Amino acid sequence: MYDVVIVGGGPAGATLARLIGKSRKVLVIERRNMYRASEKEDYQKCCGGLIAPDAQKMLAEFGLGIPQHILDGPQLFTVRTIDKKSNLERYYQRHYINVDRERFDRWLFSLIPSQVDVECEAIFKGLEHTNNGVEITYVKDGRKRKAATKLLVGADGASSKVRRILSPDYPMPRQYIAIQEYYRMDGEMPYYSSIFDKDITDFYSWTIPKDGVLILGAALHPEDDPVGKFVELKKRLRDRGFDFGPCIKRNGAYVSRPRKVGEILHGDGNIALIGEAAGWISPSSAEGLSYCFRSALALSDAIEMDLNTSVAGYRKNTGKLRMNIRWKNIKAFLMYNDTIRFLIMKSGVLSMGSIKSKLAESGIL
Ligand SMILES: Cc1cc2nc3c(=O)[nH]c(=O)nc-3n(C[C@H](O)[C@H](O)[C@H](O)COP(=O)(O)OP(=O)(O)OC[C@H]3O[C@@H](n4cnc5c(N)ncnc54)[C@H](O)[C@@H]3O)c2cc1C
Repeated sequence: MYDVVIVGGGPAGATLARLIGKSRKVLVIERRNMYRASEKEDYQKCCGGLIAPDAQKMLAEFGLGIPQHILDGPQLFTVRTIDKKSNLERYYQRHYINVDRERFDRWLFSLIPSQVDVECEAIFKGLEHTNNGVEITYVKDGRKRKAATKLLVGADGASSKVRRILSPDYPMPRQYIAIQEYYRMDGEMPYYSSIFDKDITDFYSWTIPKDGVLILGAALHPEDDPVGKFVELKKRLRDRGFDFGPCIKRNGAYVSRPRKVGEILHGDGNIALIGEAAGWISPSSAEGLSYCFRSALALSDAIEMDLNTSVAGYRKNTGKLRMNIRWKNIKAFLMYNDTIRFLIMKSGVLSMGSIKSKLAESGIL
């Protein structure tokens, strides 16, 4: 019997496995093959691949530095903010690390200690409660398999099956469908842009340059013609001067937006949820990696303290993270309110006035 079975070896699951893998008997079940060499051709998580300062801080706390082969150019220090309604544009200084998300996930996965049992290309299917824990069913190589554990951890992302089985009626964070298209890009684009346009979405859209490719993405309402809205977004940005070359790839994923702390589900009994499965993600920017790291750390501390009471301990350890979600919702209210955003952008406070002319001079704009 395992102490802990983790479903999902993304950033949250891989981090938890790394933290508890030497002291506990752990199994990780992951749908992807995290070892295959020809990674560019494989399934890739739909993501912007920007490591924000909060996630950088957590990597620092873990004593980790990002290896060079994971970085993608250019590194970005500027966000170009476009407000469609007021037709205002501003540039703000930001500090992101631009990475290849699939390689980033594989690197985190490679840090899982060798004592941990890993099942890749294995799909979690269901669970049953037993006298002393949980028995899970998963499918690998077309065969049904079972594993018994004292604690089951759902780290299986925004559409977590573990969460749906554990508590189907628990309030869910609002789900958006994120679509990203990738275009070949010849020129330079030394900034990331965030676009506020209520005709497209009440969340936001973005462009990110990455290694000769420009990504256009948007978080859209699944029931409000997301494909049509994406096409309209592209047209509006073309009209604004964005040059989208040939499309080489398109992908999509659900992304959560917790509007209330009550939508975060820590778990119950012998089942815990971490990362986006629990609902941990910023409602203002959809930055999720720092929340994966912080929730995995909070659960690992609780497990090291006492496996039997780890879900309650985990809840206790995430007081600050819940406060953070409250604060990010206040920030989201300020950012997504047309009048407040207009006043902030109009005032130019904190913006970098001279950047636009520099970009125009170098022919980038
Ligand atoms: C378009 C987009 C752009 C984003 N950009 C950024 C960004 O730039 N920076 C940032 O910080 N955040 C970003 N995010 C958010 C971030 O990607 C997520 O918050 C983060 O990936 C959540 O990590 P996780 O480990 O909780 O889940 P995931 O990364 O989703 O990992 C879940 C893992 O579980 C596995 N899995 C799922 N179901 C099963 C199953 N049944 N059986 C076995 N395995 C299973 C999956 O294969 C996956 O490996 C973005 C999200 C989207 C959608």
